[in-house]
Amino acid sequence: MRLEGKVALISGAARGLGAAEARLFAREGARVGIADIREAEACALEAEIRESCGDAMYIRLDVTDEQQWANAVDQMMTTYGRLDILVNNAGIFEHGLVEETSAESWDRMMDINGRGVFLGTKAVIPAMRESGGGAIVNISSVAGLIGGLSTAYNASKGAVRLLTKSTAVQYASENIRVNSVHPGPTNTDMLDVFFREEGAREARAANTPIPRLGEPEDIAYGVLFLASDESSYMTGSELIIDGGNSAG
Ligand code: NAD
Repeated sequence: MRLEGKVALISGAARGLGAAEARLFAREGARVGIADIREAEACALEAEIRESCGDAMYIRLDVTDEQQWANAVDQMMTTYGRLDILVNNAGIFEHGLVEETSAESWDRMMDINGRGVFLGTKAVIPAMRESGGGAIVNISSVAGLIGGLSTAYNASKGAVRLLTKSTAVQYASENIRVNSVHPGPTNTDMLDVFFREEGAREARAANTPIPRLGEPEDIAYGVLFLASDESSYMTGSELIIDGGNSAG
């Protein structure tokens, strides 16, 4: 098992990519904190993982709230006694050119996608130090590497990319590694907003070098690698998982 003995906290784990990461991590031997604002879905996932002999615990967390992060880390340390992995996965998506983007939409995305990752990172570092080190995996996006039509989303995911590198250089000497993952369009509820028009999903899939959209498991396996000791010489790196979309 690739995460035997490890304890992992995953934000936004109630559904989508976060849920796929939680299932895979539990299968690979990790004890998992399912942190989210969606209580019903998170509790259902907790039960599912426990029924398949994994170990998981729901933690109520709004990633924009510093006190809730402190409580989440306390809950993990009290229950499991250590913290080895944080996946900063929670995020929201809103689309719009500069002139179409309201200040409120900008603030929402910076708050959840940017501030949420910063607060999570800050909250887990003391616990990881106490545990002898750790791995933080930040879910950015291909939209954090190249410009596009989703102004505030692009900017918030770009912020995640550089926060990753700054944290990586600051904490490498304490055995805390920090890397970012950059998915292309992946089949989750989040994409419903993006592919509103009929046939848009299929058209995007056909235009991808590997001619399909990503599945949550495609991303989760990359996150697993960066969270595990298999990537122990990697920090500050970017892992693109997009079917070749950004390659050409
Ligand atoms: P999703 O909407 O299916 O899941 C997001 C999860 O985050 C939900 O469970 C939601 O409740 C949670 N969340 C939202 N706001 C929160 C908050 N304030 N506090 C705690 N939890 C909160 O989306 P997804 O596709 O699984 O996206 C997961 C991550 O992957 C996001 O950061 C997203 O930007 C990124 N991403 C997704 C895609 C894609 O195509 N799906 C592509 C690139 C990057």
